[in-house]
Amino acid sequence: MARKSQVNNGGVLTDSGSDQAPNPKSQAPLALILFGPPGSGKGTQAKLLVKTLGIPQISTGDMLREHVRKGLAVGTKVEAKMKAGILVKDEVVNRLVEERLAQPDAVRGFILDGYPRTRAQAETLCGMLAAKGWDAVVIHLVVDYNVIIARLTGRRQCPVCGTLYNEVSKPPKVAGVCDLESAALIVRDDDREEVIRQRLEAYESQTRPLIEYFREKGKRLYGVDASHETPEAVFRKIEVLIRKP
Ligand code: ADP
Repeated sequence: MARKSQVNNGGVLTDSGSDQAPNPKSQAPLALILFGPPGSGKGTQAKLLVKTLGIPQISTGDMLREHVRKGLAVGTKVEAKMKAGILVKDEVVNRLVEERLAQPDAVRGFILDGYPRTRAQAETLCGMLAAKGWDAVVIHLVVDYNVIIARLTGRRQCPVCGTLYNEVSKPPKVAGVCDLESAALIVRDDDREEVIRQRLEAYESQTRPLIEYFREKGKRLYGVDASHETPEAVFRKIEVLIRKP
């Protein structure tokens, strides 16, 4: 059943109080879509949610980076685009997601992080959800532009385990070194300033309009302010929203 989300004057989507929110007792598997610009904390929230919900995180960015790292055919196709902050072709990403959703660990539900990002991807996903009868909820992480820039430029990653740090908001115990692997932290190619600008442009022109698409499709959609609160506080808000009876 459709629910309508509201957009207030600041463009922040708010819970409209419908009783249609998914909850863990629901029989249908939950497709939890984490939606928001680069740097809004989708990956961080996904990792926290994996622990409480017991369903896997499906990050198209991580999957694509793995194909690049392993030198697989898909990886060589997408590497240049990723380095430039440009979206990879829909057919490539859709195929990866379709294959991933067919894995046994996704039968009870999953958390999508970084997908869908275009109208064509959203249509493919909605087709799959309808065919399987899965419940979907979209969590839109709403973040100020300046906060995004500060987060992305300060971001550092462990090249071994992929853990993300931030020089300001989440520094490692020893500057420049991963807490878990003791490896020297790196700046991801696509976290360079000119690439960040490109990624934000891609979000504005191709991804942000999906909010309207989700509304048209009657998807459950909640906006959560993710600018000013700690990741744990944002997580608690999301938990409340998705557990609503
Ligand atoms: P971010 O959200 O910070 O931009 P991601 O790790 O999600 O980072 O994505 C990194 C890059 O991978 C994107 O800039 C894009 O090139 C590619 N990518 C990831 N997900 C998708 C997608 N759903 N559609 C197209 N390209 C994608």
